[in-house]
Amino acid sequence: MKNQSSGTCNFCQHHLRHLVTDLGMQPLCEDKIRQQDLYKMEPHFPLKVYVCEKCFLVQAPPVVSPEIIYRDYAYYSSYSDTWLAHAKKYVDYAIKRFEINTDKLVAEIASNDGYLLQYFASKGIPVLGIDPSYEIAQYAEREKGIKTEIKFFGYQTAQYLVETYGQADLLIGNNILAHVPDINDFVRGMKHFLKEGGAITMEFPHLERLIADNQFDTIYHEHFSYFSFTTVKNIFDRYNLSLFDVQKLKTHGGSIRIHACHKGDKSRPICKTVHELLKHEHEIGMDSLTYYNQFNEKVKETKRKILEFLIEAKRKGKQVIGYGAPGKGNTLLNYCGVRTDFIDYTVDRNPHKQGNFLPGSHIPINHPDKIKRTKPDYVLILPWNLKEEIITYNSYIREWGGKFVIPIPELTIID
Ligand SMILES: [Zn+2]
Repeated sequence: MKNQSSGTCNFCQHHLRHLVTDLGMQPLCEDKIRQQDLYKMEPHFPLKVYVCEKCFLVQAPPVVSPEIIYRDYAYYSSYSDTWLAHAKKYVDYAIKRFEINTDKLVAEIASNDGYLLQYFASKGIPVLGIDPSYEIAQYAEREKGIKTEIKFFGYQTAQYLVETYGQADLLIGNNILAHVPDINDFVRGMKHFLKEGGAITMEFPHLERLIADNQFDTIYHEHFSYFSFTTVKNIFDRYNLSLFDVQKLKTHGGSIRIHACHKGDKSRPICKTVHELLKHEHEIGMDSLTYYNQFNEKVKETKRKILEFLIEAKRKGKQVIGYGAPGKGNTLLNYCGVRTDFIDYTVDRNPHKQGNFLPGSHIPINHPDKIKRTKPDYVLILPWNLKEEIITYNSYIREWGGKFVIPIPELTIID
């Protein structure tokens, strides 16, 4: 679908003309609305995603600076047991594969509340966190003893880190690449920060899953880019970093974990997984525009199905509530125009969110205990990537005939 130019590609600076989807006007996802702000004006920004016809980077042109996004960032990774278990397993893997010992420095970009570095630190391995959110970084230092630099990562920060701490033997970045406003500056910074013979691992949702599984709700203003392996490889190549392994993960609806090293590092031969995934992406056409053409229509049909379910449930006098208050939930609810007219309230285990309201929809966020008091007929699981964990913990809703509803890839009711 062609339309007017929307600026230039974040990586190759080519003009952006091909729209992938338009999710309307959206507030910032990770903002929580406080009781006292309910009657104030709330900024909304267009949320449109484009694909670059030259490098195939899928991207949402930035509408707001990262300083504004992360000022009051409230996502604490440690509130998800699934994510913690994933982090712990990774640490065991990394220590073995990269021969990490107490002489090595492990650094994580977007270290959040220390959810991952804590497992290295508990083995006496020196760690360094880098995270722009003051509140979360303070928490990591205070509660988990994880030294955290409160900074955005980029080339300039990398220079400071190298001067202050030396280069990193293992550099980790999970679910950060999508959030980077200047991808060139970021990867250049990683190249500078990485020690000779060191390794980088990064995890991010795989674009193939977003398109194939209709995960349009993982699109939000905080996510500037959506990556195929092919495009990431091209970006890393430009900065003389070579991708030597890639693994598929189940996290966040289907992610990949890339492994990178300095180009020419003979100790890290390129695994066949790299060639296989590049071949697969080429075969399904991720490096052609037609691959991205059908997505917008699929997104609109999903909206119609969600509304169909909600309208029918409400006509029958059923109570529908939400579970979770993740960024993706906000994209979904605001795109569908769903407010308390359809969903009475949502719940979240994160106490920093409880008592507040979802941006845009102003659906109240309660403690999960409220479910037992109001006995809803349907619980719509907004963080569908954690659906197994949520269904297991809340299976008691079946005592009164309550059912779980999963909105993505298409609306499914689970008895
Ligand atoms: Zn491009």
